[in-house]
Amino acid sequence: MAEAGIASRRKSEELITAGHVKVNGDLVTTLGTKVTSKDDVVVDGVPLNRAKLVYYLLNKPRGVISSAHDEKGRKTVVDILADEVTTRIYPVGRLDYDTTGLLLLTNDGELANKLTHPKYEVDKTYVAKVKGIPSNDELKQLRLGVKIDGKKARPAKANILNSDSKKGTSIISVTIHEGHNHQVKKMFEAIGHEVLKLHRESYGFLTLKGVPAGQWRELKTSEVQQLR
Ligand code: URA
Repeated sequence: MAEAGIASRRKSEELITAGHVKVNGDLVTTLGTKVTSKDDVVVDGVPLNRAKLVYYLLNKPRGVISSAHDEKGRKTVVDILADEVTTRIYPVGRLDYDTTGLLLLTNDGELANKLTHPKYEVDKTYVAKVKGIPSNDELKQLRLGVKIDGKKARPAKANILNSDSKKGTSIISVTIHEGHNHQVKKMFEAIGHEVLKLHRESYGFLTLKGVPAGQWRELKTSEVQQLR
């Protein structure tokens, strides 16, 4: 109720215990009763207006935090949209402070949970600039699944897009399904190549087409339906 903007948390508790709230037609006076978006919540006969669900695709620039708040006061991905978006939103998963690219933001907790759940994890494609030029054998290790923090990562797609033998760096496209912390950096660390730059260029069927760094757009209804 507090999240829907009905009243403060305390006032909402008072309304519940005083018998003003019905869930799916039944009076509820127990605090802490859990409801989902499928439940019908009515306060003094008035249906609770849920915040409209919103979905955004951001091309995250370097040097911003992938969370709604930062204790150290650094700029967050939510701050980038804040001038135009007043709904409370949060990122779906995370990109590191120095990673750029595609990040979804929403207030739809159900969809966010689904997208980040290991069972549903969607394909995410990154372009990594790494130190050195991985050998065929090292790429094969990535494709089969390297060990990260003692656990075997799921097989990944990995292809060298470009390499510069003078500078001793290469550009590699990597597609993964999981989304553990620093996953791509750890995968390359496991084969002995430090990641110098990391960019996420796609998330499932979504790409950054038409969205320059630091810019964002709303998802189309059809795109949201496809993600569900
Ligand atoms: N893997 C990483 O190491 N960092 C990211 O930001 C995303 C995936």
